[in-house]
Amino acid sequence: MKRNPTAFLKETYDELVKNSFDWKLRILETGSSPHSIVEGKKVIMLCSNNYLNLSNHPRLIKESIEAAKKYGAGSGSVRAIAGTMKLHMDVEKRLAKFKRTESSLIYQTGFAANAGLIPQLAGKGDIIISDELNHGSIIDGVRLTKADRAVFKHRDMGELEKVLIDADKKYNRILVITDGVFSMDGDIAPMDEIVKLAKKYGAMTYADDAHGEGVIGDDGRGIGAHFHIEGKIDVEMGTFSKAYGVVGGLIAGSQDLVNFALNKSRTWLLSGSHPPAVAGAQLAAIDVLETEPKHVKNLWSNTNYFKKELVSMGFDTGESETPITPVMVGESSKAKKLSDRLFDEGVFALPIIFPMVARDKARIRTMMNAGLTKSDLDFMLDKFEKLGKKLGII
Ligand SMILES: *Cc1c(COP(=O)(O)O)cnc(C)c1O
Repeated sequence: MKRNPTAFLKETYDELVKNSFDWKLRILETGSSPHSIVEGKKVIMLCSNNYLNLSNHPRLIKESIEAAKKYGAGSGSVRAIAGTMKLHMDVEKRLAKFKRTESSLIYQTGFAANAGLIPQLAGKGDIIISDELNHGSIIDGVRLTKADRAVFKHRDMGELEKVLIDADKKYNRILVITDGVFSMDGDIAPMDEIVKLAKKYGAMTYADDAHGEGVIGDDGRGIGAHFHIEGKIDVEMGTFSKAYGVVGGLIAGSQDLVNFALNKSRTWLLSGSHPPAVAGAQLAAIDVLETEPKHVKNLWSNTNYFKKELVSMGFDTGESETPITPVMVGESSKAKKLSDRLFDEGVFALPIIFPMVARDKARIRTMMNAGLTKSDLDFMLDKFEKLGKKLGII
């Protein structure tokens, strides 16, 4: 057949552009800071995951540089062959202690953890039960399995129990998997209840706490600590790429889990380990969380003030319980307009629009930062109020 084998590249892209679904990259000319320069413009950063501003913490930078100087720029191998340095082991030991679990394992990214581990936990004859709003990387991990799938309504424990009762009769292994903190709405999975239900029906539990690590629980220990059920969630998964300010996926749980995961996860076995600079910064990030509680404290006091003021102006901030505060707008075009106008006024906050969320649920997703001052918050609130009124949102 005479065909143009690459024609679809341009056709697909053109279609995306036509519908305004293409990503327009905003280029940072500074580091990711509470005050950044984006495309030549000074803005307050309100859409980064760097919640605690640890990416700019002097200790992380220093220990990252020192690790590179001492051990080099790269690790030379996958973890399983020759790419495990003492530094990697130190991070895992330290992290397990911090998270009050028996053991922990670091993956290259959170995505690699989900894509590598989930497919090993369930297969033919098993079932994976997911919250309907789970993150895309969980969905991709689930797609790599031959297990059957069931979805329960967002945070609906009655529906979860129904699915569990049915699954208990029909399947071998049962895995219940959920985001800890949901990345679009900023609400929290009722992990205490999920663990209880799972126990009742002999199911495994897996919480992807990418947005909870460093944010919820005492000193940012994550969802296990938040519900005081440390060590009871079978897999606590998270990332160093958000509040920890570095990069890297993590799981925390039993030694049995870690022994299994490192021998079975293909993403872990077949992809190079973190450079020493990354491991050095990870170690420093854990240390900072343990010794400097002010970062998590500031994050929460900023969050509470910002949310309270938005609500008192008349904005709908949805179900958020965390530093992810959606400002509900409705129509996608209006959310885009608000985001563009905010940017013009010096506030960088991206819109979340259809098809990422339902057609009438477009919003600006704001993500708070511990490094912002009260006057920064008031500056932003002023812009939100002014533009919200202008666009008829409040
Ligand atoms: C960001 C995120 C991930 C991916 O983590 P990375 O370390 O950036 O790959 C996974 N799950 C959830 C819920 C996330 O928000």
